[in-house]
Amino acid sequence: MIQSDKPSKKPLIYYYVIAMIVLMILNAVLFPSLLSRRVQEVGYSDFLKMVDEGKVKEVSLEEDAEQIVFIAVNDENNENIYKTGAFPDTGLRERLENAGVKFESVIPTQDSPLLNFIITWILPIALFSLVGQLLMKRLQKSGMMPGANAMSIGKSGAKIVAENETGVTFANVAGQDEAKEALVEIVDFLHEPKKYADIGAKLPTGALLVGPPGTGKTLLARAVAGEAKVPFFSISGSEFVEMFVGMGAAKVRDLFQQANEKAPCIVFIDEIDTIGKKRDAGGYGGNDEREQTLNQLLTEMDGFDGKKGVVILAATNRPESLDPALLRPGRFDRRIPVQLPDLNGRIAILKVHAKDVHLDSNVDFSAIARATSGASGAELANIINEAALRAVRMGRSTVSQEDLEESVETVIAGYQRKNAVMNPEERRIVSYHEIGHALVAAKQTNSAPVTKITIIPRTSGALGYTMQVDEGEHFLMNQEEMENKIATLTGGQAAEKLVFGRITTGASNDIEQATKLARGMVARYGMSEEFGMVALETTNNMYLGQDTSLACAQATAERIDRQVIALVKKGREKADAILKENEPKLHELAAYLLDKETITGEEFMRILNAPETR
Ligand code: ADP
Ligand code: MG
Ligand code: ZN
Repeated sequence: MIQSDKPSKKPLIYYYVIAMIVLMILNAVLFPSLLSRRVQEVGYSDFLKMVDEGKVKEVSLEEDAEQIVFIAVNDENNENIYKTGAFPDTGLRERLENAGVKFESVIPTQDSPLLNFIITWILPIALFSLVGQLLMKRLQKSGMMPGANAMSIGKSGAKIVAENETGVTFANVAGQDEAKEALVEIVDFLHEPKKYADIGAKLPTGALLVGPPGTGKTLLARAVAGEAKVPFFSISGSEFVEMFVGMGAAKVRDLFQQANEKAPCIVFIDEIDTIGKKRDAGGYGGNDEREQTLNQLLTEMDGFDGKKGVVILAATNRPESLDPALLRPGRFDRRIPVQLPDLNGRIAILKVHAKDVHLDSNVDFSAIARATSGASGAELANIINEAALRAVRMGRSTVSQEDLEESVETVIAGYQRKNAVMNPEERRIVSYHEIGHALVAAKQTNSAPVTKITIIPRTSGALGYTMQVDEGEHFLMNQEEMENKIATLTGGQAAEKLVFGRITTGASNDIEQATKLARGMVARYGMSEEFGMVALETTNNMYLGQDTSLACAQATAERIDRQVIALVKKGREKADAILKENEPKLHELAAYLLDKETITGEEFMRILNAPETR
């Protein structure tokens, strides 16, 4: 702190030094001429001449100083102050009286030392410091100056302000029943801290909301504050990270001080992983600020009076990267998982967000929910909004099921590229590719039925796609299902090869997915004979895209690769066989899709199950 206090004073002194130098120059060059124009010195004979001409109005005979100061009108008819050396002249008084000149004891001249001092020194200094202060304010506002914050040390600025009413309640959060249950207790505690204190129970100081992005962690925290009707301090972890060492820690101190004053209240630190990362990384020196901030946070949490009714909530989607010190009892000891919604949760979320949307009477949310397995609350909210926007675009006043279905695809695969023109040959290839996927999926008993196939290009880059929707909710996948899925993924390229004799670049995404599945089977799910139940990969981040890294020797990695290759190859062979066997149907379906651009699962199954037309 001392460190950041000092530099703020230096610049001010510099200001004054510079101001002084400028002043001296001004005094020497500019002001003398300015001042001497005020009191004009004239010769004694000129004075007498002016008296005779009746120009002199008032005189002051300053005998001590041996000078006469007088006021006379000048050539421009303005009164001016003059002075002249005095001579012992006996006839002067009479001469002046005759001319009707008033006698004054003192005529104040601008030569007054006080006024002089004020004009030449005080005024400019005041001006300079005013300008300086304005500049400082500017810098403070833009936050560019280190000293800026030193003026308000310990205060984190206007950013942390308690919201008294978040306006969000548990009713706004759909699904997430387990998370809500855990939080209800906290709400109750905030309502009646005494009840808990009486029995001697201490509520956990902190609760950590963990889960994938968009599942409603921030929303839940706000809902807790809304339910408890207490002030809500919300700050994002990144806001603690400041340019200057020590400022983040000061912010933490300030936050907790304010919270203590406002208790009972809720302090919510969003994205806490920004400051709460493990401290072992070290060695780069740049972590100083973050570490200080984290240490301050830990200290504040320890020094907290648990009975006072301050609850600290935090949210993160990378819990595994948090410093263990944050998670020990007494700090964020309660962990509340916020999962991706299940089928019922998705239906509920869709309903919550559709509350203010005008819907057709035939809208079926369960169909939409089934088509969006794996979607987060944020994505579902987005789907409803996209559907409403589409309805407006089409000039309708209500949202139809079709709008919703289209918007699911928009959110999953991007907008339709209406004006993207594929050449006929490419359209044929895409048709066969997509039918290849669908056919392989349908012929494997355990694969989910196809609901929709389309060859309308999307802004995401997909030229066509096959949408598969599971009948019910799946939490587990067995080995056979995984193998079937790999086969289905290879079905696209298999069809291209079978029909056209060559393959295109269109299967890159399929390849990626199939490889990922196969690798998972070998390295994580213990589905290979060779390795059995040995973990060969560790998950770095369970909520953000299943980021994994290998945890085995180089030689083992090579063996894993061989297994993965074998698994994908096996799937491809299966797909090849299925397509070869059903080649007439493949042609028939591809032709139909080429004609229609989009076909439903029912149409697909009808053609597939119809007796052969040839
Ligand atoms: P997170 O903080 O977990 O990343 P948010 O709380 O910011 O996610 O959620 C983003 C938006 O998604 C919310 O504002 C809300 O509109 C919507 N949302 C997410 N989960 C839910 C839910 N369970 N119920 C209702 N809306 C939700
Ligand atoms: Mg959030
Ligand atoms: Zn494909």
